[in-house]
Amino acid sequence: MYYNDKTIVFLNGKFIRAVDAHAGLFNQTMHYGNGVFEGIRSYKTSNGTRVFKSKEHFERLLYSAEMMHIKMKYSVNELTDITYQVLEKNNFSDAYIRPLVYLGENMQLGPVNDVNVFVAAWEWANYLGDKLTRVMLSSYQRPNPKSCHVEAKVVGHYINSILATTEAKSKGYDEALLTDMNGHVAEASGANFFYEKKGKLFTAPKGNILMGITRATVLEIAKEEGIEVEETFFKPEALTDADSAFFCGTAAEVAGIESINDRPFRLKWEDSLGRRIQVIYKNLVTGKLEKKINAV
Ligand code: PMP
Repeated sequence: MYYNDKTIVFLNGKFIRAVDAHAGLFNQTMHYGNGVFEGIRSYKTSNGTRVFKSKEHFERLLYSAEMMHIKMKYSVNELTDITYQVLEKNNFSDAYIRPLVYLGENMQLGPVNDVNVFVAAWEWANYLGDKLTRVMLSSYQRPNPKSCHVEAKVVGHYINSILATTEAKSKGYDEALLTDMNGHVAEASGANFFYEKKGKLFTAPKGNILMGITRATVLEIAKEEGIEVEETFFKPEALTDADSAFFCGTAAEVAGIESINDRPFRLKWEDSLGRRIQVIYKNLVTGKLEKKINAV
């Protein structure tokens, strides 16, 4: 699914076949989850293949690395260049790109000097599919920002996401919605969350969430469209009379929600602000929109 014997990946300065790329069992990342990564998408546009917001993604990768005491040898520009080369070598246009920074052999709990950079890409459809998502309010909470850097994209953080998604799927739902340590609605396992009420959008503020690049794009689109957005803490009870809701993330893009804990919304998805934003987002990433919003 992710590669075949012709797939080319980048590993530590070289473009090699994915089947020849290996990492060791004594790596610190393998045992303790200290590594950082990104999830990026490229799209086919009339100007060729474009990586959407590559600068923002690689700036976040470098920030995540810094937070985890990982010394990076590559700049944002170099990483962007490597990404375009990976896409070109695999002949990909609409792809999902996975840069991963992992650490070498070390069974201690301190920083590691052996820093490895891996960039792979594969063709991946919309993560949540095109159908509306059935969401469960998770029994898991997002990690406390005093226990780790929740605003960084760190390998080990995703055990929380795996637990929440597995719980939701085992109960017949598609995705989980998690609260923060204070019981406020935070985000999904791999996407940010917005809900609509009385013509206005609401989303969790900075603090206890991963600050999604798609979330920032949704805020830009909303501003352009004159849609009011409030970044505020809210409890799950606020969702009981919401008009609609959606997730957004690089992998999920803008994904409409059918119901939360089996409670559907007042508005049909087609009539919601989320749907309006979803259409604009798709046009933006595929370069079909001449707007002020920065799309590269
Ligand atoms: N929250 C979490 C926990 C995520 O893993 C992601 C995906 N990176 C997002 C939000 C959305 O972030 P982005 O829009 O930058 O992909």
